[in-house]
Amino acid sequence: AVAAPDADALLARRDASFAPVQEHYYARPPQIERGWREHLIDTTAQVYVDGVNNVATLGHSHPRLVEAAARQWALLNTNSRFHYAAATELSERLAELAPAGLDAVFLVNSGSEAVDLALRLAFTATGRSRILAAREAYHGWTIGSDAVSTSLGDNPRALESRPDWVELIEAPNPLRGRHRGPDAGAAYLADLDAQLEGLGAEGRAALAGVILEPIFGNGGGVLLPDGYLAGVYDRVRALGGVCIADEVQLGYGRLGRHFWGFEQQGAVPDIITVAKAMGNGQPLGAVITTQEIAAAFAAEGSFFSSAGGSPVSSRIGLAVLDVLREEGLQENARLVGEAFKAALEGLATRHPSIGAVHGLGLYLGVELVTDRASFEPATRLADAVCEALLEEGCVVQPTGDHKNVLKLKPPLCITAESARFVTGCLDRVLTELGA
Ligand code: PMP
Repeated sequence: AVAAPDADALLARRDASFAPVQEHYYARPPQIERGWREHLIDTTAQVYVDGVNNVATLGHSHPRLVEAAARQWALLNTNSRFHYAAATELSERLAELAPAGLDAVFLVNSGSEAVDLALRLAFTATGRSRILAAREAYHGWTIGSDAVSTSLGDNPRALESRPDWVELIEAPNPLRGRHRGPDAGAAYLADLDAQLEGLGAEGRAALAGVILEPIFGNGGGVLLPDGYLAGVYDRVRALGGVCIADEVQLGYGRLGRHFWGFEQQGAVPDIITVAKAMGNGQPLGAVITTQEIAAAFAAEGSFFSSAGGSPVSSRIGLAVLDVLREEGLQENARLVGEAFKAALEGLATRHPSIGAVHGLGLYLGVELVTDRASFEPATRLADAVCEALLEEGCVVQPTGDHKNVLKLKPPLCITAESARFVTGCLDRVLTELGA
């Protein structure tokens, strides 16, 4: 009974006016009116710790972003066919943040757009059409990004409807995957070798590239086995393909120790997609690649996105990078994230329903299971835990193919105290549910 009566009435209007299939969090969601740092406040003045907002990476309502946006709106907003400073400055900053050689930047408006463009770049750079993509991943909603998305949590029928240019590879899940333990990476790579062999010479010659999240965000922050990503990249490149790292969800400092997810795997991609954190909620995304791959896109004519890299979006993007650095938020992600993960692992010693704690920095996943021998996913429990956590003042949501992993990806400004609050609430809720 968290929601105010007017929240229920507004929900009915939403259901009537939104085209269907657009989900909302919770059976009876609170009506959110204000955000501040890692907190959300509803219309009844109830305060929640926001455990899911990896888009508002600096925190909600950051005064620097408010100022940057308002100032630029008052000066100028137009499209990137005009010549102005902000888009150039942002592109330069992104190229500096990327590995050497990746210095050609396209500014777009979202993660789905970035992934779509990355796929087109892979096609045009290689003159080929087949893409390797992993099961359990989500990369977006546009035709191209949806084609490489097979997360069953988002689309239970995803595996039945892939276009024939998508070649699915197994998700190297350390908990319920086929291979486990220290040799899992090599075993999955041997499987990949066999799969590539099975494509035949013609199939291999059609390979344009691979798209992977360097850590499985949709799975709840599941780390790839050591050496896996570099091994996949080696194989794809040996066959003439290019490697796309989808950093939309994981990258941009959230992992604490690493700015980019691929650094955790010691691998360097040819194309990086980024969005979400990049605009802190402003529609803003980018593709960062080599000059050579970008130049091959000339075969498609030119590239232009009306609002991509607009003065307002670019100024916000620059302010995000300034605040990330000046407030030491990547370091905060490391410090608070490490303590948060250790505390969650502590809970696992007392709550048998916690089968694993995944993740790094401030992208963590608590995997709930019905028992630790079979790792049977505890999907209903995950749902009940999230509803109960809302009553306690924490916004946490389940993810993964079985919707049994509680994803914890709060704004990077979260304090150690707020992280302890979430852990304390989870402890209480699991105890009350006898889990
Ligand atoms: N890639 C990944 C890894 C994502 O998590 C998402 C969004 N959840 C996207 C791409 C698509 O981004 P957007 O919603 O901004 O289109």
